[in-house]
Amino acid sequence: MKLFDEISRKDHEQVVFCSDTKVGLRAIIAVHNTTLGPALGGCRMWNYASDDEALIDVLRLSRGMTYKAAIAGLNLGGGKAVIIGNADKDKSESFFRTYGKFVDTLGGRYITAADVNTNEQDMAWVRMETRFVTGVSPSIGGSGDPSPVTGLGVYVGIKAAANELFGTDSLKGKKIAIQGAGKVASFLAEHLAKEGAKLFITDINEERAKALVKRLKATYVKPEKIFETPCDIYAPCALGGILNDETIPKLKCKVVAGGANNQLLDEKKHIQMLIDRGILYAPDFAVNAGGLMSVANELDGFGVQRALNQAQGIYGILKNIFRIAKEEKIPTSTAANRLAEMRIASIGHIKGIHSVSSKKQ
Ligand code: NAD
Repeated sequence: MKLFDEISRKDHEQVVFCSDTKVGLRAIIAVHNTTLGPALGGCRMWNYASDDEALIDVLRLSRGMTYKAAIAGLNLGGGKAVIIGNADKDKSESFFRTYGKFVDTLGGRYITAADVNTNEQDMAWVRMETRFVTGVSPSIGGSGDPSPVTGLGVYVGIKAAANELFGTDSLKGKKIAIQGAGKVASFLAEHLAKEGAKLFITDINEERAKALVKRLKATYVKPEKIFETPCDIYAPCALGGILNDETIPKLKCKVVAGGANNQLLDEKKHIQMLIDRGILYAPDFAVNAGGLMSVANELDGFGVQRALNQAQGIYGILKNIFRIAKEEKIPTSTAANRLAEMRIASIGHIKGIHSVSSKKQ
């Protein structure tokens, strides 16, 4: 791989390779854009097949964080870290404290948090070596798991989409198919059930899905059947890349709005396929920005309640995206990217940063 070509292709400011043979740590920290503030993003631990794969992932994920923070109106930039390793075997206090030391060397340009395969305990170890970590456990003064805020944000995002398409915020009686019964899906499903939506829920972990179904008097759907479940709204809350050549033709919904990251496998191609099928897409990085709001509030010394209040604002953000998409006859994903890029450019201007170029595609 041509390292510098790859890094500059997506306009990253800085990429840091971290290695400590004693504890077996191999990590990459990517700072994409700090125009709006310090780069914040979680630390993912994954058994990557190659170093190239890890680098490509961290570059992609950190750029996504720039857009998420920008559209959420936060004074944060985009960053991410990946640790190349086996989360079941390699974790230890010294491992994460070593990672924390590397984060600290960046002096606050990058702020870390938990992500796939890392948790509050890991971040508590990181916290022993650096203050540039957020989303730590309430027991050590943090805001803890951001999922309740993400779930609320997805709920109000779905309401905004319903308002756009059905002319009402009410989800009473609406059929909503939820993919995933994990943390975000569970908080979302509770809000929806309370409002009287008719829920169809799946998870590859059948036991988890059935427990949620039982608790909320929903309907269980097999994982492979969720796409073709007739519904008003399909809410992907599991994996990324779930909107693709194979799944989009099967969809029997009018709206896609959910919490999963990077839902469109190929942004340009698959948003067009959704448009051609007459399905309204609520851009994922706006819908699921509640989690970032949660950890951002912790950084500013505020509690979860403030983040929950802020997550209500996702409704207005989405309505704005839909308005721009309609007025300019562009896909909703393009409208969302444009809004984020405009904010970065305008705040860059008042800060005297003129070289902002963060085109997503
Ligand atoms: P989680 O691990 O708690 O839940 C994910 C669930 O998806 C698991 O129960 C898993 O078994 C299930 N799943 C995986 N593949 C599936 C498949 N093919 N079909 C059906 N179910 C499947 O994770 P989470 O924290 O709830 O996150 C869910 C999504 O939301 C992820 O894409 C995550 O990146 C995104 N997200 C989460 C947050 C947050 O605050 N947790 C914030 C922003 C975005």
